[in-house]
Amino acid sequence: MSWDFETDPAFQRDLDWIDEFVREEIEPLDFIIGHPNDFTDPNRTKLIPRLQAEVKRRKLWACHLGADLGGQGYGQVKLALMNEILGRAKCAPIVFGCQAPDSGNAEILAHYGTPAQKDRYLAPLLENKICSCYSMTEPQGGADPKVFTCRAELRGDEWVINGEKWFSSNARYAAFLIVMAVTDPDAPPYQRMSMFIVPIETPGIEIVRNVAVGYESEGAHAYIRYTNVKIPRDHLLGEPGQGFIVAQTRLGGGRIHHAMRTVGKIRHAFDLMCERALSRTTQGEVLAQKQLVQAMIADSWIDIEQFRLFVLRTAWKIDKTKNYREVRADISAVKATMPRVYHDVYARALQIHGSIGLSTEMPFAAGVLDSFHMGLADGPTEVHKVTVARQVLGRYQGTEEVFPEYHLVRRREAAILKYAHLLEREVGNL
Ligand SMILES: Cc1cc2nc3c(=O)[nH]c(=O)nc-3n(C[C@H](O)[C@H](O)[C@H](O)COP(=O)(O)OP(=O)(O)OC[C@H]3O[C@@H](n4cnc5c(N)ncnc54)[C@H](O)[C@@H]3O)c2cc1C
Repeated sequence: MSWDFETDPAFQRDLDWIDEFVREEIEPLDFIIGHPNDFTDPNRTKLIPRLQAEVKRRKLWACHLGADLGGQGYGQVKLALMNEILGRAKCAPIVFGCQAPDSGNAEILAHYGTPAQKDRYLAPLLENKICSCYSMTEPQGGADPKVFTCRAELRGDEWVINGEKWFSSNARYAAFLIVMAVTDPDAPPYQRMSMFIVPIETPGIEIVRNVAVGYESEGAHAYIRYTNVKIPRDHLLGEPGQGFIVAQTRLGGGRIHHAMRTVGKIRHAFDLMCERALSRTTQGEVLAQKQLVQAMIADSWIDIEQFRLFVLRTAWKIDKTKNYREVRADISAVKATMPRVYHDVYARALQIHGSIGLSTEMPFAAGVLDSFHMGLADGPTEVHKVTVARQVLGRYQGTEEVFPEYHLVRRREAAILKYAHLLEREVGNL
């Protein structure tokens, strides 16, 4: 039997260390550092590299990467157990060298970059000396890439990019952008686009504005205009027309890693919810004694445990198959489940805390809003549900018959026929 719900004791010791390190050293940073990618923040410069050095010393740096890229080559199950701890603190992924979108962009560069590009972009990215941005969504649509119009044309030895991108997170802090642009407008929709490395200092890049989501005080999601942005010919990643294939390199891992970190976030809210339920008194008893509050605690615990097991099983399947495509239905199902569980647990935690729960003095209102981030970024929930349904339906077949295959009348007749030779002649009671 290979089903096992226990963690290897040696790895558990690493997890225990990570847990304490995140609680004691990293969680406080979230109250001091504005944005973990803002290299101009002196507090960041003083505090983060110190902790990154400690993580490297413990051989826990960039665990998702192979040893050839300076990582530890962890499988997805180990990453899941680790990321669910890192999810508690905003700065934790950067301290452990596995922050989005850099982790996915690094995968693209490792796969498709030339040796010179790996030296120039990948090496400092993996060391978190710089950070990067993924620039794909456009103002007129994100969920349907077929509507993208941002264009790249080859003129001599240069690609020239013109167009607009929307919600390019971290562009204001990034040293380079990975940009998807149309290179062959007449090709079939999924072969029209290509992927490029665009250094941020290239003339013609204009950040029109940095958009903030509801819980952020400062925007970091750039609305960008590219006007005659010229980049060298070799800054194309992969072949012309392969933009979608290149994009897939980053998305499979990225989606499941977001889910792993979400487990950490919702467990944190659950801890706070339980503490409050056991502390706050109303009408002579603690909230924990009210049955409707108990229902919220029970529903939350059930949601979290189900979601966590689903994430772990998906991680295990990825390790087994070593192929994200084969596990597509599971990854999309996890992606589609994540915003609901995240939302519901944070909303219940907010409700149990009452007015202070809704205030900015507790993390719940921000968490409820952030659950929508998880339901939009890397593809909206609806699109992932479509993927799940298509994949799952692909395992079934329809019937040519008017009545269903499992029509009870037909099944009963077939059963009687099958065992007729063993049955009494009088079968009227069957
Ligand atoms: C916090 C955050 C960070 C982001 N970071 C980045 C980034 O770094 N780089 C980047 O390129 N993009 C980024 N995005 C953009 C993200 O990828 C898009 O928001 C997403 O793809 C949806 O596109 P849209 O916002 O244009 O919504 P639309 O495409 O307009 O979709 C709106 C809604 O329509 C519905 N819908 C869409 N398609 C379907 C369908 N097939 N069936 C049924 N209903 C459907 C859904 O309810 C969907 O939410 C980020 C988004 C957020 C919220």
